[in-house]
Amino acid sequence: MNPDPALEPALARARDILAQSPRVAAFSGAGLSAESGLATFRDPDTDALWSRFDPTELASLEGFEANPGRVIDWYNWRRSKYAAVAPNAAHRALAAQTRMIQITQNVDHLLEQAGVAAERIYHLHGNMLYDRCHNRNCDHHERVDLDKPRQLRNCPRCGDYLRPAVVWFGESLPRETWVQAERLCRELDCLLVIGTSATVYPAAGLIDVVRQRQSRVIVIDPNPGAASDVADVHLAGPAAALLPALLEGFDLASTAR
Ligand code: NAD
Ligand code: ZN
Repeated sequence: MNPDPALEPALARARDILAQSPRVAAFSGAGLSAESGLATFRDPDTDALWSRFDPTELASLEGFEANPGRVIDWYNWRRSKYAAVAPNAAHRALAAQTRMIQITQNVDHLLEQAGVAAERIYHLHGNMLYDRCHNRNCDHHERVDLDKPRQLRNCPRCGDYLRPAVVWFGESLPRETWVQAERLCRELDCLLVIGTSATVYPAAGLIDVVRQRQSRVIVIDPNPGAASDVADVHLAGPAAALLPALLEGFDLASTAR
């Protein structure tokens, strides 16, 4: 897929910025995985579970405490979709940058599947590939088979419920991951922002961290939004066409060589 020729001048400006930036990291949202077939948060989805329930109620502590079985069934339905998709050209273009850190709000496994080493991915909102114990004082984790996720069950260690290892509305981000991401953003020369509405905080605040140090922001998103408002360059198109064109020939790094 080739990028829209009208975007050539913006692409050239973005490539100039990258060429002058010793430290670059990516910050992605649901739009990165949209072309793999995973719905973004905002996309209308015809599937019954999305239309019958409010995702913000299901992806919350209150929702889980009110009806844990329903929440697990909903996540298992999402997991069945995750099992059926593959990385797209945007994930692959990011994976080819083997020295770049991927900060992502996505809870899917498509960056890993594209070949990004796990230690180079900061999953700010957790990861659907794992369940964890709902009891904060128990650190039991289990890998989940996306094809055959299991129904509501209890922790083998403490007896509380197991739940997806993702961050729900009203919950804090995984502390260590957040600290690492914020520290990294304070040292970057450029942040590549891909497919996020930049409305979910504190994650979206990373863009402000980068702006505060006068570093550059390049946004790839077909739609304008909070991130493109503060961007040096907004590449207004889909990530799977634009990222390969943007990154071709670069070997970007996130930390000093
Ligand atoms: P969002 O749905 O709020 O925003 C998605 C953004 O992607 C929009 O700005 C949209 O214009 C853009 N977009 C759509 N198609 C695109 C494409 N082909 N290329 C580039 N951009 C495209 O998503 P968000 O900002 O990530 O925030 C929603 C929250 O929901 C996140 O915290 C995330 O954890 C969660 N979520 C994750 C997944 C996933 O893991 N795949 C999917 C849905 C929601
Ligand atoms: Zn437990």
